[in-house]
Amino acid sequence: MKPAPFAYAKAKSVEDAIKLLGQADARLLAGGQSLMATLNMRLSAPKLLIDINGIGGLSGISVNNGYVEIGALTRHVEAERSTDIVRHAPLIALAMPHIGHAAIRNRGTIGGSVAFADPAAELPACLLGLGGEVEIAGGQGKRTVKADDFFKGLFETALGADEILTAIRLPAAAKDSRIGFAEFARRHGDYAIAGLAATGKADGNVLSEARLVFFGVGATPARAKNAESALVNGDVEAAVQSLGSDLAPHDDVQADAATKMHLAGVLLRRVAKQLLEARS
Ligand SMILES: Cc1cc2nc3c(=O)[nH]c(=O)nc-3n(C[C@H](O)[C@H](O)[C@H](O)COP(=O)(O)OP(=O)(O)OC[C@H]3O[C@@H](n4cnc5c(N)ncnc54)[C@H](O)[C@@H]3O)c2cc1C
Repeated sequence: MKPAPFAYAKAKSVEDAIKLLGQADARLLAGGQSLMATLNMRLSAPKLLIDINGIGGLSGISVNNGYVEIGALTRHVEAERSTDIVRHAPLIALAMPHIGHAAIRNRGTIGGSVAFADPAAELPACLLGLGGEVEIAGGQGKRTVKADDFFKGLFETALGADEILTAIRLPAAAKDSRIGFAEFARRHGDYAIAGLAATGKADGNVLSEARLVFFGVGATPARAKNAESALVNGDVEAAVQSLGSDLAPHDDVQADAATKMHLAGVLLRRVAKQLLEARS
């Protein structure tokens, strides 16, 4: 199938993109790795595509004042190869190779992944697990939204119709930071049937401030707060049992709800071990 006809505009700046977004039924084009598929399948038929790839200053990784900032147009491959990401945002480094395949990571952008908010995507779960923030610019000016408030529903975020995600910001890893990541996919590079991105702090074998974020098991990345409490009490099996009250997966094309719940427990046992390991 071919896309429905659309007009194309290349934005020169963030302000230009915001102005163009004011026109009826416009959509931003970043890496195009998700958007082109939805256009070709006619799941989406915008009148105007606004190409943001030529906008300067939206790409790059910086570490300042205890935060890692990743510009929206930063390609997955840049994050995957960044020594700053390995050192200061190791959860992102662990997740990155699981995102599609090399060709997709060459074009796909960090901002596109977070804005698209696929419930089975790795980066939204990592952003939420790290307690990060999203930088947004729009007709009403700039604002910052916490990851906890950003993912609203299935492919639905806090972004307004005339807004553009400009960057994500993550707390940089500290000495006592701990991370864990695991996912189950049919083949490496496929979207996850179920996945888990986790963070915490550890003093010896004592874990605190755990954030367990599952993906592929609901409409949005989902924090498992009851399991977090059980895990900081040192009881992994109680944490696994708690998932029944934390998660409510539905059947999808990949697996039924019972399989996803089972996998969530398996992933939690694996990640619980990782969370107590110090990283060099
Ligand atoms: C075969 C295949 C396998 C894949 N596997 C995975 C996987 O395992 N895990 C995974 O996470 N992803 C996967 N992806 C998706 C990939 O990561 C995409 O790159 C990503 O989801 C979207 O990024 P993009 O830059 O390509 O965005 P685009 O496709 O250009 O845009 C996606 C959506 O986000 C909006 N958007 C883009 N940038 C912005 C912005 N800055 N501000 C506001 N809105 C914006 C667009 O308007 C559009 O609605 C896969 C893709 C393919 C084709």
